[in-house]
Amino acid sequence: MAIRPIVKYGDAVLHAPASAVAAIDDSVRSLLADMVATMYAAPGIGLAAPQVGVPLRVIVIDLSVGEDPAQLIQLVNPQVVEREGEQRHEEGCLSVPGFGGSPLRPARVTVKGLDPEGHERVFNATELLARAFCHEIDHIDGLLFVDRLSPLKRDLLKRKLRKKAREGWEEE
Ligand SMILES: [Zn+2]
Repeated sequence: MAIRPIVKYGDAVLHAPASAVAAIDDSVRSLLADMVATMYAAPGIGLAAPQVGVPLRVIVIDLSVGEDPAQLIQLVNPQVVEREGEQRHEEGCLSVPGFGGSPLRPARVTVKGLDPEGHERVFNATELLARAFCHEIDHIDGLLFVDRLSPLKRDLLKRKLRKKAREGWEEE
């Protein structure tokens, strides 16, 4: 397991759709293990492969940030197959450090994907878990929470972020 550097807003890999994983092999399982280690080290409650510079449809989520092993979710080729209702809460992102925003999210989602052994998993999520799934699945579609803000807030924040990307994100 290795902690990988997290790429920041402005890096092309974050702003383009990622490719589906064709086969879950040892390289994918090793990517998952590194993503979990990187998420815990950050610390964060979710991470998508593009955030470590890998353009593949792979996400990890753990609302307990390593406190409860039962809460770790590792999904390959995840998809939102059902959505219902609306919620709006403050979100942050490890690739947009120091900034936040409240994008509109579904209140409830059903997510399907493959676990590290290649078995299909289905999750019904509400509240924070629903937001985390949507946030991470947005990442593999090349979208950040910033892209889902109201036009006024989005444009204001994007101006600040483009400046950060130009000047270089300082290392924490
Ligand atoms: Zn994020």
